Amino acid sequence: MSKAIPSRSEDYSLWYNELVKKAGLAENSPVRGCMVIKPYGFAIWEKMQQTLDKMFKETGHSNAYFPLFIPKSFFSKEASHVEGFAKECAVVTHYRLKNDEVNGGVMVDPDAKLEEELIVRPTSETVIWDSYKNWIQSYRDLPLLINQWANVVRWEMRTRLFLRTAEFLWQEGHTAHATRQEAEEETVQMLNVYAEFAENFMALPVTKGIKTENERFAGAVETYCIEAMMQDGKALQAGTSHFLGQNFAKAFDVKFANKEGKEEYVWGTSWGVSTRLMGALIMAHSDDEGLVLPPNLAPIQVVIVPIYRKDEELEKISEVAEKFTKELRARNISVQYDKRDTHKPGWKFAEYELKGVPVRIAIGPKDLEKGTVEIARRDTKEKQFVAQGETVEHIVTLLDDIQKNIYQKAASFKEANTHQADSYEEFKEVIEKKGGFVYAHWDGTSETEEKIKEETKATIRCIPLNSNQEEGTCIYSGKPSKGRVLFAKAY
Ligand code: AMP
Repeated sequence: MSKAIPSRSEDYSLWYNELVKKAGLAENSPVRGCMVIKPYGFAIWEKMQQTLDKMFKETGHSNAYFPLFIPKSFFSKEASHVEGFAKECAVVTHYRLKNDEVNGGVMVDPDAKLEEELIVRPTSETVIWDSYKNWIQSYRDLPLLINQWANVVRWEMRTRLFLRTAEFLWQEGHTAHATRQEAEEETVQMLNVYAEFAENFMALPVTKGIKTENERFAGAVETYCIEAMMQDGKALQAGTSHFLGQNFAKAFDVKFANKEGKEEYVWGTSWGVSTRLMGALIMAHSDDEGLVLPPNLAPIQVVIVPIYRKDEELEKISEVAEKFTKELRARNISVQYDKRDTHKPGWKFAEYELKGVPVRIAIGPKDLEKGTVEIARRDTKEKQFVAQGETVEHIVTLLDDIQKNIYQKAASFKEANTHQADSYEEFKEVIEKKGGFVYAHWDGTSETEEKIKEETKATIRCIPLNSNQEEGTCIYSGKPSKGRVLFAKAY
């Protein structure tokens, strides 16, 4: 078996890359920075999508679809937006190829130059606000609560499977409101939806906060984010929700007549999570044997493996296994009965461990005699024999336990690796020797933020919400600070 992956302590980065490939989640594509998402990886993404989509609809949003191509001129309408995205734009200049008579093969047909170049969307605010101009006239048309599931392209230089790719899949919510307050409430509501999803489905504890001006979304007034801790102590920005103020409404001239008949600019928000969440899920929970998936997102929650020598044994085991499959499915649990005779049970055990299937049931001839099955859980690797009559109930409870245990483990890790620093010396030492999250005072200036980043590679992940904001002095400049902010090295 060439399935073994390097250990996390040996090489965390290699462990991650190998795990993604060997567990059948994704692989690199011929185009640098792009990836092929394989069926098992896509099945996890689909579960994420289904869950989030339901949450969006429950909060009043509808799905729509806008074009992949955006006229170049749209980008120059919002100055800071174009500045932020210019360096990462893929541009379509021609619409036809022709035979290359000199060098062979094909070449771009110089006669097929587009009149206006097209940008492959890096995000869709511009094209969407261009539509909103036609959709919104009066306060009766508001709020407009739209989401789109799509792919986007940002020409990233340093890429890594799922975490940062040049093309990625995501959802982008774009809402329009009559008042500032309503738009701000929407921004926070969607941040909370993301945090809830991360905690209850991904079993991933997150810190909610506001980005500093340096890290703010290009074109936003305020960017809210959720930050998660990976097993190497580094932070990962797992989702963002932006309050756009009236910036895009002004850029695209989107006005509405209020109840008094007076014209006003519309207030906006946008929010997104991407296939980066797959990376977060993998990095936060998995171990040296492979993936550890929280049951709420595992495509296969239970696998049943028969252990037999003779065909008669398999027949009898299959009777029991198929009965369990039916009963578990009736309880909304996804089950796979793997009776392939092309692989040995030991191989299958290792394979499902690598794939992070939360629960494995093994049934052999001895179990038939005793009326038991062997149940193994992936997260703690504990095994136990359970009476066949109690198996279904046992599994229902066990899946719930596993979900909670994975969350608890990640939460304890996050807590154990969260520190405070009161001087720059202390800060540097913690960042270098311990890593993790460090809460420290900052004077609020981009200058200090950049100096600290240059000297330590740690960045301000966010100005945390809901924290007791005690005043203090900046660890770097000694100037007054309004409260501690969250520093960490990040992906
Ligand atoms: P943004 O539009 O920059 O706020 O990003 C929206 C979401 O997409 C955030 O949750 C980011 O974590 C994620 N994201 C941004 N860039 C990438 C990338 N290159 N690959 C994968 N996800 C990304």
